[in-house]
Amino acid sequence: MLEPALLVVKVDDIGSLEEALAIAKEAGFDVKDVLYVKNTSTKCYLSRGALEKVRTIIGSNGVKKICVYDELKPRHVACLIKELNVEVVDKVMMILNVFQCHAGSKEALLQIEIARLKHQLPLIKDWIRRIKLGELPGFLSLGRYAIDVYYKHITKRIARLNEELEKLRDIRLKERETRRGHGFIHIAIVGYTNAGKTTLFNTLTNLNKPTGTEMFTTLSPKSYLVKLCGYSIIVVDTIGFIKNIPIGIIEAFKAVLEEISMADAIALIVDGSKELDQLKVELETALKILRDVGCIMKPIVIALNKVDLITEGLEKKIELIEYIAREYQLMLVGVVPISALKKLNIDSFKEALCQTAKFIQKNLA
Ligand code: GDP
Ligand code: MG
Repeated sequence: MLEPALLVVKVDDIGSLEEALAIAKEAGFDVKDVLYVKNTSTKCYLSRGALEKVRTIIGSNGVKKICVYDELKPRHVACLIKELNVEVVDKVMMILNVFQCHAGSKEALLQIEIARLKHQLPLIKDWIRRIKLGELPGFLSLGRYAIDVYYKHITKRIARLNEELEKLRDIRLKERETRRGHGFIHIAIVGYTNAGKTTLFNTLTNLNKPTGTEMFTTLSPKSYLVKLCGYSIIVVDTIGFIKNIPIGIIEAFKAVLEEISMADAIALIVDGSKELDQLKVELETALKILRDVGCIMKPIVIALNKVDLITEGLEKKIELIEYIAREYQLMLVGVVPISALKKLNIDSFKEALCQTAKFIQKNLA
């Protein structure tokens, strides 16, 4: 169930509107309206005029949440809640929600919870201060004493989660080895937000869930087992690459990306409907991230998605991708033009996955 919300995006970020919308949706929000703001105020983030606009929007569509695609200071959150009487979600919280949907392991979930709690701490500190000053009646209807206790509870919980994290690491590695021992091949679907990863994932799997065996206990709902040409391939729908990840949640992001470093091979999805220049930028950025997480040497299939939207220049785009692949010395299995949505050329893509599986099997043996 998506929650109705109002999305606030800064005008300099207009290029990121597509990303903000995709993330809001994936974070569980149904964006009813978008408000662009030019200047932000130090006190409340939104200026007087913007606050007025938000009040009107909220009044007319009954939205109870606002998502601000920016990093908010505790005072902003407090001020917005006071002024508007709505729940406020900022960029960090939105992205953490998305991480949570994509967390492929309990370990990643723990990292995310730690990040969430750490993000809450300064908010709570600010709240304690304001309650003491008599500015705010209470937090989550907690009184002054309760909120002190809550603060301590959170710091303790962070410590406990860190301990748990250590233990889980071992279990997960063992589980993965077991799956590998049984001949399962892991292929991670990666790419920019909105490239079409989830659509492809759904097309590939037709939502055939692996039925629970002990080998899958740490797998997320975004991992599915597909049988292709005699191989058991676990396809993992990973989180999209996001521009400008807020610094406080980089650890959690890495944990989610670890899904990629654990994979035997990569299926990189690029949005083929983009202009050549943009395509180049997005492909190179994606490859740099893959290099950063140590995955650049894995066998890779590149799907040029959304071909249904390409009217001309398909050949040029494929040549460009092949050229960049050589530059980066990728172990390229192939570039396959597809439409995940219209289900075009999916057989060729599956064929490329089969070749990849064959290659991996040979090299594992
Ligand atoms: P993700 O963020 O990479 O998981 O992207 P999604 O799978 O959620 O797709 C993003 C948007 O692109 C959605 O609106 C899809 O319907 C659309 N989309 C995905 N694949 C195709 C395609 O092959 N052709 C067209 N025209 N649209 C597509
Ligand atoms: Mg997706």
